[in-house]
Amino acid sequence: MRVHIDWTACDGRGLCAELLPELLSEDDWGFPVARGDMTVPPALEPAARQAVDRCPALALKLITSDPARASS
Ligand code: SF4
Repeated sequence: MRVHIDWTACDGRGLCAELLPELLSEDDWGFPVARGDMTVPPALEPAARQAVDRCPALALKLITSDPARASS
């Protein structure tokens, strides 16, 4: 499972970087910057789901390698 950011929707409030600091930092304008390939380790799945649920722009999704199983 990986975090996917829809850059057309993200408005750079930086909340996701606060909720998932292990996977995301933020740039000077509050836009998220990936710390790696954004693969979510099992221990971070609850935090990743919270970040998806709380993104005010609905710009985050959790995706799997099988697109048919992607969830938001
Ligand atoms: S929480 Fe959503 S809108 Fe805010 S920076 Fe992250 S992806 Fe963008």
